[in-house]
Amino acid sequence: MTGRSTERAATHTAALSPLLKQATPVLAARGEGVHIWDEDGRRYLDFTAGIGVTSTGHCHPRIVAAAQQQVGTLIHGQYTTVMHRPLLDLVERLGEVLPDGLDSLFFVNSGSEAVEASVRLARQATGRQNIVSFHGGFHGRTFGAASLTTSGVKIRAGIGPLMGGQVTAPFPAPYRLSRYGMSPENTEAATDFALGELDFLLQTVTAPDDTAAFIVEPVLGEGGYIPANEAFLTGLRERADRHGILLILDEVQTGVGRTGRFWGHEHFTGGLGGRRLADVLITAKGLASGFPLSAIAAPRELMERAWPGSQGGTYGGNAVACAAALATLDVVRDEKLVENSAERGAELLAGLRRVAAARALPGEVRGLGLMAATEFSHGDGSPDTAAAARAQAAASERGLLLLTCGPAGNVVRMIPPLVVTAEQVEEALGIWADAV
Ligand code: PLP
Repeated sequence: MTGRSTERAATHTAALSPLLKQATPVLAARGEGVHIWDEDGRRYLDFTAGIGVTSTGHCHPRIVAAAQQQVGTLIHGQYTTVMHRPLLDLVERLGEVLPDGLDSLFFVNSGSEAVEASVRLARQATGRQNIVSFHGGFHGRTFGAASLTTSGVKIRAGIGPLMGGQVTAPFPAPYRLSRYGMSPENTEAATDFALGELDFLLQTVTAPDDTAAFIVEPVLGEGGYIPANEAFLTGLRERADRHGILLILDEVQTGVGRTGRFWGHEHFTGGLGGRRLADVLITAKGLASGFPLSAIAAPRELMERAWPGSQGGTYGGNAVACAAALATLDVVRDEKLVENSAERGAELLAGLRRVAAARALPGEVRGLGLMAATEFSHGDGSPDTAAAARAQAAASERGLLLLTCGPAGNVVRMIPPLVVTAEQVEEALGIWADAV
């Protein structure tokens, strides 16, 4: 692809900073629904959704109207100074969709900030220091969040010393463990291994009395689109209860319908007998359709154990972002986007499996809802990063925008807006089959 806007995008990016690495050469001029147009008028199917953010599609008319209305009313009313109606209404609305008992909320701007806020809360509320995160987890790029992140060395390389008190335990990733003789289908063995290692760490590295929280994603996102499972998350809950450790669910990527349930962890709570899984739930990306906003939810009595005034940020809970979030929740409900995510997600995953089988791709296809991915491997199971990069580039040349993820960058993922139609899924799969 050598259009004028492609060249301009490359120059533009280089002039910004060589630190910015762009996954595609596209210079986006406008977006509508599942599509992006570049400055030359070329149309792309956007199966990246701004990394899972534009859940209602680009520029959904109801989000645009809500934001425009709010811009003309009150753009910014800082919440430690004055309260505003969009934030109060959003607290009410989120209360309707959050798990029972997570009845106290506050807001910052990004996923990383929400992670930092949850760590502060956990440390202050328990008086303990250590935080256990899980191999392949991604929690962000700020120092605390980066310390908890093990989805790839680049996030942590060369910036140490990082936050202290971080301990990493295995995440049940059967396909990865299959390189060491475990069956890629044997989720049970991978889970036994992960929980056994966690118990060992609690005996040897991080005494329960020093451990404030576990932080876990219901689906490893940047780490390669690996869903957790019921036994694992139930096992974490049991250990949290036994030792007085808090369980932080990082639903930054999986929240607000992305996985085909409103919250990603709802897939895995069957074994809890109605008991709530999370002590703290954080969410961001799909919450406000592209406006920066993240939420931290916990029981009020837990929030009361932390220090008042120790949390927040100048732009946190911005009025326009809150208005966009309210409109997003309306659209998700009225257009049945959670259901659409489940149905289109199942079609997408089945289609990716068909393509992988037809092309005899070594690797694995996996995902949950509209988080669907193909891991590219060599015959011996080692990562084939070059094949993933070629497939991703070939897809974008053919008009389908995709991203890679995973520790070795060898997983190509599809994360379209939740408004994607069955026809658009078919179109994307056709391009994908051609690209690989
Ligand atoms: N947590 C998870 C699960 C994420 O996927 C991300 C971003 O991809 C973050 C935290 C960090 O969010 P942000 O990039 O908004 O800081």
